[in-house]
Amino acid sequence: MSFLNISHLEKSFGPTRVVKDFNLSVEKGEFISLLGPSGCGKTTVLRMVAGFEEPTSGAILISGKDVVKLRPNQRNIGMVFQSYALFPNLTVAQNVGFGLKVKGAGSAEIRTRVGEMLELIGLPDLGGRYPFQLSGGQQQRVALARALAPKPHMLLLDEPLSALDAKVRVSLRNEIRSIQKELGITTIFVTHDQEEALSMSDRIVVMHAGIAEQVGTPSDIYSRPATRFVAGFVGTLNTIEAEVLDSAIGRLRLAGVETILNRPVPDGTVTLGLRPEAVSLGQNGHDTAVTGTITEVDFLGSVIRLRADLGGQTIAFDTFNTPGTAPPTLGEKVVLGLRSADLLVIED
Ligand code: ADP
Ligand code: MG
Repeated sequence: MSFLNISHLEKSFGPTRVVKDFNLSVEKGEFISLLGPSGCGKTTVLRMVAGFEEPTSGAILISGKDVVKLRPNQRNIGMVFQSYALFPNLTVAQNVGFGLKVKGAGSAEIRTRVGEMLELIGLPDLGGRYPFQLSGGQQQRVALARALAPKPHMLLLDEPLSALDAKVRVSLRNEIRSIQKELGITTIFVTHDQEEALSMSDRIVVMHAGIAEQVGTPSDIYSRPATRFVAGFVGTLNTIEAEVLDSAIGRLRLAGVETILNRPVPDGTVTLGLRPEAVSLGQNGHDTAVTGTITEVDFLGSVIRLRADLGGQTIAFDTFNTPGTAPPTLGEKVVLGLRSADLLVIED
């Protein structure tokens, strides 16, 4: 039995089903992300787990026990929201100690625990400050400490980094993950940011229109997307139409050249997906070479993002900005190397 078991979970608001047959098992200590575009039902799933929203149907078991009828404060779950939601009239220490006070802990116990928590989030000296005296990143750390202080057995984070600046966001990602590992606390993290999900999670649930489209490790999701939606939502994906010459062995013609996938494909035409990093400038020993014309050159710093037209279909790929080497220019004819093993067959 997993630590958390969600089965056939459904939620409707009036006639609208916003969560549909959602199933998920989470092991103790796992860090799971719910990843999907705005409005796909991530927050609604999280709120049902926390107890702020009652499911229309389905079960939520924590350690084998159905919690659907339990109130939020009976579930022993810590939660952090996108907006910091700290109490503005309480100091940092009072905010962090709030949950313990509500539980009736004594002042000495609260003081010790608050000290430990402030140490954990790297702000040991800021207990006397008020929220308005903190940066956004510090406020979110305090919100995390407040959620963890009562020693919950599960942590739910709803887009906790979305309101922060890019640099703070990246450093807090690492901090949250290392605190989570240190405590070994089972965590569900909601985000619409694929990079956050890929970099932080043990497993990712990709959600689309109320449905869990795929559950897998970051590398599964990225390398073996199960649906067209997942392939397009996570990472950048080129799609190329190819003509099937022999469906049994996957012999195809794409962009005027033949390649063999060595696996069966449907008859007729297929859509192939190809990550930009699977395309090289020059054949580079890859088994398939196509020719194209450069249509776009985007200088991004250490990397240059290029686009090439392969005779009616365009693909994006990257090259490193190597000192002393000029990148291709607009209109230049180039040879691109592809590996047939990297071509994903996209099915609906
Ligand atoms: P996400 O967190 O992925 O952006 P939400 O779970 O917040 O998505 O919302 C999913 C859908 O449910 C949206 O279409 C939203 O408008 C709708 N929704 C959420 N809460 C309510 C509510 N209390 N009443 C009616 N519709 C709601
Ligand atoms: Mg949301």
